[in-house]
Amino acid sequence: QKSEWARLKHEATITADGHHVELGANIGTPNDVVGVIDHGGEAIGLYRTEFLYMGRSQFPTEDEQTEAYASVLKQMNGKPTVVRTLDIGGDKELSYLQLPKELNPFLGLRAIRLCLEMKDMFRTQLRALLRASIHGNLKIMFPMIATLEEFRQAKALFLEEKAKLEEQGVEVSNSIEVGIMVEIPSTAVMADVFAKEVDFFSIGTNDLIQYTLAADRMNERVSYLYQPFNPAILRLVKNVIDASHKEGKWTGMCGEMAGDEIAIPILLGMGLDEFSMSASSILKARSQISKLSKAELESHIETILTLSTSEEVVSYVKKLTVTE
Ligand code: PEP
Ligand code: MG
Repeated sequence: QKSEWARLKHEATITADGHHVELGANIGTPNDVVGVIDHGGEAIGLYRTEFLYMGRSQFPTEDEQTEAYASVLKQMNGKPTVVRTLDIGGDKELSYLQLPKELNPFLGLRAIRLCLEMKDMFRTQLRALLRASIHGNLKIMFPMIATLEEFRQAKALFLEEKAKLEEQGVEVSNSIEVGIMVEIPSTAVMADVFAKEVDFFSIGTNDLIQYTLAADRMNERVSYLYQPFNPAILRLVKNVIDASHKEGKWTGMCGEMAGDEIAIPILLGMGLDEFSMSASSILKARSQISKLSKAELESHIETILTLSTSEEVVSYVKKLTVTE
């Protein structure tokens, strides 16, 4: 196994029937990129920028942010790098940003909602991203998008800052894709509408599961309801992938589910284009995918989507991968 993984480290991720998918990593800081390359990552599917804002006493400046984003892009050397704009609120707090206490922080003013309210803070981050963009293959995504208006507003701010920088003679990339995280059920349901306007989707199952089953992802007393394989989740995921492909766009997944051994065959069969996981899971996943046939898995998706419970899905997939 060790030697197989050592060989796979330098190879693309190809199924047994010759289909390529991209295996990326989730990171929190520029220091994490070394590990991504060391584990053979083909991309960064999620750079959680909130860590840049945490553990300090004031907002990071535009220059500080530009430096961090440029560092990640340079280290990735042209490989796709998806940077998520600030996702604060919910369980993540900033000591220097005193926000009113909320009864339900996970349903409150977090992520893109906060950024659209604190526009100066958001514009600063967008400018830093734009300035860093010339150093690599940058893709930007907005977290917690619930409505099309939110995406349009965020995209408009991005375009405004881009135009301003260009006017000032600052060099910025013209090929930055702008996409969204799909982690709220409304957006998963409306994926066909979003797909006409976004460049890509990245499914955030950590939140999508908690919001779909209304089960707090941190609350152990309802953890039995936190079901990645609930058919409701699978139907939403399939809807998002299909909607993106109809418009010639791509869909990734950056929630924990993307690196799960049982989930991978299902996601592969559904046509997921990019899987983003912790760097240490990449080679194991690449090895698993290299032994799976996409066409074979595709033929089981319709049946899987008619199953009634999470348990049925898990046992179906287990049987499938044993006989293959
Ligand atoms: C998710 O919600 O699936 C996700 C990747 O984002 P986070 O875990 O940072 O909320
Ligand atoms: Mg999330």
